[in-house]
Amino acid sequence: MVVLGTRPEAIKLAPVVRAMDASPSCEPYVVSSGQHREMLAPMLTALGLKAHTDLAVMRDRQRLAGLTGRLVTALDETIREERPDVVVVQGDTTTAMCGALAASYERIPVAHVEAGLRTGDLYDPFPEELNRRLIGRLARWNFAPTERAAAHLRAEGVPEGQVLTTGNTVIDNLQWMLDRGEGEPAFRTGGKRILVTLHRRENQGGGMRGIAGAVRRLADRGDCEVLLPLHKSPAVRESLLPGLSGHPGITICEPLGYPDFTATLAACDLVLTDSGGVQEEAPSLGKPVLVLRATTERPEAVDAGVARLVGTDPGAVFAAASRLLDDPSERDRMARAVNPFGDGRAADRIVAAMVRDCLRPPAARDG
Ligand code: UDP
Repeated sequence: MVVLGTRPEAIKLAPVVRAMDASPSCEPYVVSSGQHREMLAPMLTALGLKAHTDLAVMRDRQRLAGLTGRLVTALDETIREERPDVVVVQGDTTTAMCGALAASYERIPVAHVEAGLRTGDLYDPFPEELNRRLIGRLARWNFAPTERAAAHLRAEGVPEGQVLTTGNTVIDNLQWMLDRGEGEPAFRTGGKRILVTLHRRENQGGGMRGIAGAVRRLADRGDCEVLLPLHKSPAVRESLLPGLSGHPGITICEPLGYPDFTATLAACDLVLTDSGGVQEEAPSLGKPVLVLRATTERPEAVDAGVARLVGTDPGAVFAAASRLLDDPSERDRMARAVNPFGDGRAADRIVAAMVRDCLRPPAARDG
């Protein structure tokens, strides 16, 4: 049973579902929690995924505790009806944490895709870091995207046999999508192309208003085209639109479909983002990334030299972006860095490990 609820979960679990479909030993059953229904539905279509069950648990202005209660209850019912052999969750959402908890209550082994990411601060980002750590305690299989993520898990005492470094499935999916060649870049001019995506809760309000100021100054240079596919969250829109609307050098659009987004990423010169997934996708296409956050649970790209952590201070964002726009050799140096997030075969490793361990006779398993 593959449990997902948001756009990035669909992106990162689609390759796992495909690998299960290709395995004679697996039958995937996809459950959608509908956590971000509006952005999830078109993504499922673009990825060729269909949810077998859709849980209607979201309420307006819900509190985290209420959502958690409803999700665990609804997932418990689905799990008891379907009796899956394994429950697969991804990342750090409330959906993922509830999937792991509901499965554990029924003693069904949990597989955690993209395990071991840590900022080191239990409450930052909240509730993501909390969710990741809880899932790490529950999972039978922790599929770490990098050696660093695997090391976090080992340092927390997760037994060696429960940690496997696989690469990140986001790369599998990016390659799959680009190979299909279905998308079109959304840029319209021949200037320097800057792709901006923002959505993180910690940046909403003051952080995003500051970033908007910096982006407007970049557009004022006159040699760039800024493209901002705008997240559906009302708080994101309220934070960004006043500062960015009405500038001829800034194109604001609805979230792009995945085929167009990946084609746009492949066509850009520079990425400004607070997104986790985009931080991973851009390096694999050799695109320099400025990470607009104070901290990142993906320091691998910074260490590899393809990403820089610049925060949200308007002066710092403008200076870092201008430097890259003005110095092609600096951009090239970043673009040549080796992508640290895997080779695009993570999902095969994940499914092979689950099949191997599930099919092993109980005696061998216990031994
Ligand atoms: N994405 C997309 N259309 C867009 C912006 C992003 O398809 O307009 C995809 C992108 O490929 C990436 C994922 O959505 O893999 C990132 O989602 P988001 O930034 O919402 O979440 P995060 O990765 O930070 O959890």
